[in-house]
Order: sequence, then structure tokens, then C-alpha cells
Amino acid sequence: MKIVVKFGGTSVADIACIENAADKVAAEVQRGNQVAVVVSAMSGVTNQLVSFCGDIAPDFDAQEYDAVVSSGENVTSGLMALALQKRGISARSWQGWQVPIICDDVHGKARIADIQPEKMNAALDGGQVAVLAGFQGVTSDGRIATLGRGGSDTTAVALAAALEADRCDIYTDVNGVYTTDPRIVRKAQKLDRISYEEMLEMASLGAKVLQTRSVEMAMKRNVPLQVLSTFEDGIGSDLPGTLVTREEDIVEKQIVNGVTYQKGEAKVTLLNVPDIPGMSAKIFGPLTDASINVDMIVQNISQNGESTDMTFTVPRADLDSALDALQACPELKDTEIHTDKNVVKVSVIGIGMRSHAGVAQTMFQALADKGINIQVISTSEIKISVLVSADYTELAVRALHSAYGLESE
Ligand code: ADP
Ligand code: ASP
Ligand code: MG
Repeated sequence: MKIVVKFGGTSVADIACIENAADKVAAEVQRGNQVAVVVSAMSGVTNQLVSFCGDIAPDFDAQEYDAVVSSGENVTSGLMALALQKRGISARSWQGWQVPIICDDVHGKARIADIQPEKMNAALDGGQVAVLAGFQGVTSDGRIATLGRGGSDTTAVALAAALEADRCDIYTDVNGVYTTDPRIVRKAQKLDRISYEEMLEMASLGAKVLQTRSVEMAMKRNVPLQVLSTFEDGIGSDLPGTLVTREEDIVEKQIVNGVTYQKGEAKVTLLNVPDIPGMSAKIFGPLTDASINVDMIVQNISQNGESTDMTFTVPRADLDSALDALQACPELKDTEIHTDKNVVKVSVIGIGMRSHAGVAQTMFQALADKGINIQVISTSEIKISVLVSADYTELAVRALHSAYGLESE
């Protein structure tokens, strides 16, 4: 089998961890597998590199930011190759440009456009383990770019697709995907399998165990993906973790499989918005132009036929630019703008929702029972999200997790 294995930051946090990760790779090689390894930077290193940039210039140049923050992965790829060589395994490190992993030039959150796998495939066919620095690629004009925080997951899945690997194993500090963040709910349960669709919703709604783009790519390219622990016994080939797979491969479809929370949101409320055709386009057009992703939106019915109120959410980091864009909008000159950063989006996710009624009611009742006020609601086929005060994050997550019977015994 050909497999890609990825180790996250905590899995390569220090030399002892790298040695432990190298043992996992060695065990896969001993099983007769061809292995490509993708590594993150040592835990905390990327954060430190980001803050170095900010210390020099708060509005740093994005190309140089990428030059700096991509370096953490270079270190671990070399160290991992050394640890493998010490175990008598032929191994070589690869940086993104050496593969090459071609990406667009949106520095800081670039997307992979193409991977040319021939050289790496030749190394694997020659019996060598290839150790790739995650999180980075090279633009068409030869500059280094990074793929957004958590981007090594996407490197791993993209590499698995390009190499036509049989599986992509994501080694991390939990032994699988849980019904909710195990750090918040002790009784969260490990899922044996989860569909790409649900995992995609969970990732994009806050479960940071996999970067959203990595799941998108796995789904599109049909890459079997496994999340498993670096710190427990066993290797990926024994399938101890959570398999992210096609919906058809999941026998028991739960109504709700996961609860997530996302704190990086801010709520914007517009009072006294003219109630005329074309207003939404005028409000959201400038936000789109400023590349601001508007998420939940509600508009009230007009009381007097002339004006209405509107509420929506934007990423907290974009709130100031959103306000600038709104204040520059001539149609909103008589509109009051209120903002609230102390909000959290809590979501429940499950493919079984498609065919079951009453899922939303369970959510609303569970929150009501805890006295938690719902500010905004949004739904899609397999998820329901509510915006509530961030003060109730843990209470809301726990209440929902138990309301859907997800707790372990
Ligand atoms: P890595 O450094 O290996 O990439 P991350 O910190 O990015 O690891 O992701 C793993 C973390 O994701 C876990 O420690 C856990 O707290 C968090 N997490 C959030 N939601 C979930 C979930 N539903 N299942 C598993 N882990 C989750
Ligand atoms: N080191 C990068 C980060 O911390 C990429 C990754 O670990 O996936 O975001
Ligand atoms: Mg991660």
C-alpha cells in the first residue's frame, strides 16, 4: 500500500515526540508500505513566528510573512528524515518548492493549484521515505506561500491525492474525531466513521481537528482519511482511529453526529435600514468587495413599510473592515449600526437530519432549559447553527451534546 501520514504540531513538539512519530513511520515501512510523511512545525513554533512578524510590523508584507512562518515545517522535515535514517530507513526531506507544490499567490491562505508528483514517486519507488514540510507551496513566480493555519492537513490530503495513495493518516493528539471537542465535554465519544459531508460541516463550523480545505479536498478526490493518535499504541494500518469516508460506507446514520462551536464570529445589527428592493445587494456588495465572508443573515419584516432591521455575522477579525465598508454606504446614512463580539456559533451536525423532523426543536428546547437566549438561527440540509452569547459556550455545547444522546456511558 502507498500511504501518506501526517503529524501535527503536538506530535512533533520536541525530539522525543519526533522519535516516537518516526517509530510509527518505521512500523509502516516494516509492514511493506510505501510511506510519504507530512510534518507540521513543532507545537507553538508557528505562533511564535507569526508574532515575530507582528513585532516588527503590525501590517506586515504577506510574502515575507510566508517566508518566515513556513520555516517551522522545514526544521521538522529535516529532523524527521534524520530520525528515520537513524532507524536504518532511507529517508529524504522535501520542501514544498522541491516537489513542487504549486499554489496561487494569495499569501497567508494560498490554495494548492497543482502537485507534480513524479520526483517524489520516483523516490518512493526507490524505497525511500519522503518527508514533506507541510503548510507550504510555491507560487508560479517562485515565491513561498503558506496555506492558512492548520494547512498541513491540506498538504497531506493533496499529496495523497496526487500520489494516488491508498490512505491518508492524520496523526494528532486525540485518537479520532469525537462527537464534540473532547477538551470541553469529557463524555464525548469517538466516532468509528464519519461521512465527508459531516466532517466538512464539523470542520467549517469549528471542530479544528481537520482543516476545512483538507476535508473538501478528500471528498472531491475520494481520499480515504483517518484521524488517529500519535501517542497511543498502534499504527494507521490497523485502523484504530476515525475513518472519514463516503456516506454510502456508513451503515448506521445518526440523526446528529456532532456538536461544534466557533468563537471567531461577530454580530452586526443594522437598525432602520430602508426597506426597498436592492438594499441587501447594496449592503453586502461592499462587504464582498472587501473579501468579507458574511455568514448568518436575518432580516425582520418591516413594521411601517419603510424601514427594517437586519442582523448578520462576519469573522471577528474582519469586523473593523466590515464597519468601514458599511459606514461608506450612502444608503445607510440614517441606519444605526450595533456590533457584538461576545457571541459564539454553536452547531449540531448529522446526515440523518435529512430524513428526520424535530431535530431543531430538540436544540431549541435544550437551550431554553438552560436559559440560553438564541440570537440568530441558520440551517442547511445536515446542520443547524445558532448564535448565542459566548458566556454560554460550554454550557450550550454540553447541553446539546447530552440532548442528542451523544454522551458515552
Ligand atoms: P494538530 O496539531 O495535530 O494539527 P489540532 O490541535 O489542530 O492538532 O487538532 C486536534 C485538536 O482538535 C484536539 O486536541 C481537540 O481538542 C480538537 N478538537 C475539536 N473538536 C474536535 C472533535 N470533534 N474531535 C476531535 N478533536 C477535536
Ligand atoms: N504549522 C501550521 C500551523 O500551526 C500548519 C499546521 O500545523 O497545520 O497552523
Ligand atoms: Mg491541526
